[in-house]
Amino acid sequence: MRNKYFFVARDTVTCVVFFNTASDGRPPWETGRPQTEFMQLEQAGEILGSVLDVGCGTGENALYLAAQGHDVWGVDLAPASIQKARDKAAQRHQTVTFLVLNVLELHTLGRTFDTVIDSGLFHVLSDEERPRFVDNPATTIHPGGTYFMLCWSELEPAGGYGPRRITQAEIQASFQKG
Ligand code: SAH
Repeated sequence: MRNKYFFVARDTVTCVVFFNTASDGRPPWETGRPQTEFMQLEQAGEILGSVLDVGCGTGENALYLAAQGHDVWGVDLAPASIQKARDKAAQRHQTVTFLVLNVLELHTLGRTFDTVIDSGLFHVLSDEERPRFVDNPATTIHPGGTYFMLCWSELEPAGGYGPRRITQAEIQASFQKG
C-alpha cells in the first residue's frame, strides 16, 4: 500500500482529488498529533503572534498552536481535510479559522500574519507553482515575520515513494527575494 500515497499528479484539479481522497483514509502524513518540530519551535519561543498554516491538512499543527494562545488560521485545497479540521476544533472547543483555499490565492485572505508554518506543502508544489506561491507569503507575512518549513529533504534516500526532495539550495533560491 506504500504507493497509494505516491503523489505524481501536478495540476490543481488532480491535486484536490488526490488529497481529498487521501483524507478519507489515514495518509502517512496524518499522524493525529502535531509535528515535533513545530512543538519545539513553539516551546523555544520562536513562533510569534498570529499564525497562518499553509496546506494545514486536518489541522493538528494549527490546533496545537491555537491551544498555546496564538490566533491561527489554516488553509487547504482539500475540502474533506478542512471539514475534518473544523470538526476537530469543534470537538476540542477550540477556535481556529479553517478555510478551503489554494495557497496561490493567499492574497485573498486580506490580512497578514506574524508567522507562516508549512508542514509538507512546499514539497508538493510544482516548479511552475513554487515561484507563484513564494510571491504570496511575501504579501502574507508581516515585515520581519517568519516562515517555517518542514519538507522532505535531499538527504532522504531517492526512490519512488514520497514527494519530491527539496534541497537547501532550492529553498534559498526560492525565498531569496524579500
Ligand atoms: N500540513 C498537513 C498536511 C500535509 S500534506 C500535515 O502536516 O499533516 C500536504 C497538504 O497540502 C494537503 O493537505 C494538501 O491538500 C495541501 N495542498 C496541496 N496543494 C495545495 C494548494 N495549492 N493549496 C492549498 N493546499 C494545498
